[in-house]
Amino acid sequence: MDLGIKGRRALVCASSKGLGRGCAEALAAEGVNLILNGRGGEALEATASAIRAAYGVEVTAIPADITTEQGQSAVLAVSEGIDILVTNAGGPPPGMWTDWGRDDFIAAFDANLLTPIALIKALLPAMMDRGWGRIVNITSVAVKAPIPVLGLSNTARSGLTGYVAGVSRQVAGSGVTINNLLPGLHDTDRLAMLDKVDAAASGVSEQAARESRVATVPAGRFGTAEEFGAACAWLCSDKAGFVIGQNILLDGGAFPGAL
Ligand code: NAP
Repeated sequence: MDLGIKGRRALVCASSKGLGRGCAEALAAEGVNLILNGRGGEALEATASAIRAAYGVEVTAIPADITTEQGQSAVLAVSEGIDILVTNAGGPPPGMWTDWGRDDFIAAFDANLLTPIALIKALLPAMMDRGWGRIVNITSVAVKAPIPVLGLSNTARSGLTGYVAGVSRQVAGSGVTINNLLPGLHDTDRLAMLDKVDAAASGVSEQAARESRVATVPAGRFGTAEEFGAACAWLCSDKAGFVIGQNILLDGGAFPGAL
């Protein structure tokens, strides 16, 4: 299926690796020109070169911490006139409720709530003026089924979910859609880090921690960045213009509810 977005321009935040890269690659495969971002310049440049070579699209790479005002300014300076925004950043660290103080919450809110809101506020008006735009936020299964050790993530991402629910409907008549993609367990560096923490806490090997995590997924495996990216590209497509304010869960069946 032709997704109808060839020649469009997208900013994909936190996209040198993992799910952000999966989204960037899937958009590039549809002929979308990209602005990529990550903090580490080396991995970012390697990803940008690989995508240019594989898909022949224009790729601008901006090394910056997207959760800071300076980082957002650097990315926004090259993002004028973009059609597609995918927000993403690293997730907060795991812990216990007793670990989290005001500074930890502020850091999580900055990364996973206020950064996407700042980017949406900066880029949405021009999309509305042009009558077409797509915004996808990478959030988490944690907004549907909170994960106890990820309390900082549960809290910040629930805030973004509420924001998107309202704003997406306020702007729906303008041709701009805003939706959230909720990853369940996907095989990325983030998951490897969580396996390491689990292994250390419970005195088992990282492999054992990984196997017990896989056992929670009815699909019997972790999701891939490619599968996640394909869902993102569809949400960003011309075909998905009637999808407004939705939270789409990609979790291999792990969430046990009917809806
Ligand atoms: P990942 O494999 O660790 O990749 C994170 C990517 O974001 C890297 O390219 C990283 O590059 C970049 N990044 C991190 N912090 C950044 C920042 N402040 N500014 C700019 N770039 C930044 O993580 P992932 O698994 O793709 O996860 C993406 C998001 O989905 C995270 O918020 C995560 O919590 C959430 N999530 C993931 C899963 C899962 O199973 N993987 C499940 C639920 C939710 P640099 O480090 O070089 O900056």
